[in-house]
Amino acid sequence: MKFFGKPAARKVKSGPVIKRLLVRCPSTAKLAVTGQTIDEQLWAAAKVKTPKFTCPHCQQVHSWSKKDVVLAR
Ligand SMILES: [Zn+2]
Repeated sequence: MKFFGKPAARKVKSGPVIKRLLVRCPSTAKLAVTGQTIDEQLWAAAKVKTPKFTCPHCQQVHSWSKKDVVLAR
């Protein structure tokens, strides 16, 4: 009996493209990382959860909506 030839269950290179969600800070106009990520292909249909984050630039809590988001690698 041989059990060779079964590929490991790993993600291949052509798998989902994970993007980071960035939001522009209204105080400093800099892009801030929300700490959330999403598969790019799912973004169009995605619903955002907890659309608030603590901004690394101005230390305030910003709320954001989907249209504010910039996808970045
Ligand atoms: Zn800010």
